[in-house]
Amino acid sequence: YAPLAELDPEVKNIIDKETWRQFTGLELIASENLTSTAAMEANGSILTNKYSEGLPNARYYGGNEYIDELEVLCRKRALQAFNLDPAKWGVNVQPYSGSTAKWDLLRDLMQAGANQRLASRHLPPSSNRKTVSWVLASPTGGHLTHGYYTAKKKMTASSIYFQSLPYALAPETQLIDYAGLAAQAKIFKPKLIICGASAYPRDWDYAALKKTAETEGAWLMADIAHTSGLVAAQTLNSPFDYCDVVTTTTHKTLRGPRAGLIFFRKDLKDAADLEKRGGPHNNTIAAIATALLQAAQPSFREYAKQVIANARTLADTLVGHGYKLQTGGTDNHLVLWDLRPLGLTGSKVEKVCDLMGITINKNAVSGDASAQVPGGIRLGTSAITSRNMLEADVKVVADFLHRAVQLSLLLQKEAGTKMLKDFVRELRAEVIEFATKWPL
Ligand code: PLP
Repeated sequence: YAPLAELDPEVKNIIDKETWRQFTGLELIASENLTSTAAMEANGSILTNKYSEGLPNARYYGGNEYIDELEVLCRKRALQAFNLDPAKWGVNVQPYSGSTAKWDLLRDLMQAGANQRLASRHLPPSSNRKTVSWVLASPTGGHLTHGYYTAKKKMTASSIYFQSLPYALAPETQLIDYAGLAAQAKIFKPKLIICGASAYPRDWDYAALKKTAETEGAWLMADIAHTSGLVAAQTLNSPFDYCDVVTTTTHKTLRGPRAGLIFFRKDLKDAADLEKRGGPHNNTIAAIATALLQAAQPSFREYAKQVIANARTLADTLVGHGYKLQTGGTDNHLVLWDLRPLGLTGSKVEKVCDLMGITINKNAVSGDASAQVPGGIRLGTSAITSRNMLEADVKVVADFLHRAVQLSLLLQKEAGTKMLKDFVRELRAEVIEFATKWPL
């Protein structure tokens, strides 16, 4: 029972170094956030000791009375957080991550023939419809798990087992072209349409997608992994009035532990509520429950509004410097910065930002040939807003980014001169001074 520092100083030391990195840096990766200490306490609790395969009141092992109570509580809070009627919606809180949540659903929805209740829902039993899912292309903002593949390689399990076709953004506006999408759906006849993205800075028109899905007899799935906290806070459109199933992660804008949730309309229960995995991570389910309690507080709504206000400030400040953003701005927590007019790649700027202690990620922008050589970077304001930064502070952050880009341009011309190395060191010191004003 020795404390970690005594029992395993090596691991403790790594944790301490990472804590220092997070504290002295600026976290702008759009998919990351800071989990509350209360949720982390639940996550690190004794609940990790318990096996509970199955579902509440139907387990393969004994001793689960408190685990059942916990899972039922977590489900109740998940439905409440999104204002869902328990008579119409169910939720599975066991997925270990956003990817596994989606994989479970894809497997069941795309194999509709194996499940009569599903098969009869929209499609005639004899339907010879191809198992096509229709997804926002990964290089234009979709997620890998939506079936991403390239001409050379199938990149994810979903692309190996299911046929997916990409839809793209309108080249002039970089927005989703809902009318074009409806016309294409008539040709492709997808069985499932997936909406949701990892790098789309605008809100979604779920009503338009539902119309297309209904016309073509497809299911509609929303993956709100990125935006679920903003949806729960009612600062973005809700997919629940329109979609058959909704998946999310719990660790992005929702600010919980690393995990996933599957929301399903009750008439799809067979698809989404089977126990599909090994033992649930009960400690994580406890932490999700705590995060959902926090998401139901009025202060969370204020947080979500601030996340968006900060993202808009970031976008406006960068545009003010003359930079080009995909779609010209943002409705949510993320900004997609097109670096191609500057002659820079996303990886170059990511590296320079790393040296300064600003964490961002290279990202494809609309028109890039491949997601592997991206021409942009993705920025998000969830984590810095969790550190209580407001618009004025975000302007300082935008200024750091402006200098990072200018430095990248200089480095491109004359890499490694002493003057530039000194400049990087100075910028790192400035970032440390600024970041350490904000507790984690
Ligand atoms: N779906 C979307 C839209 C995502 O952006 C992500 C991760 O960033 C995932 C799913 C996968 O989530 P996880 O990493 O928890 O598997």
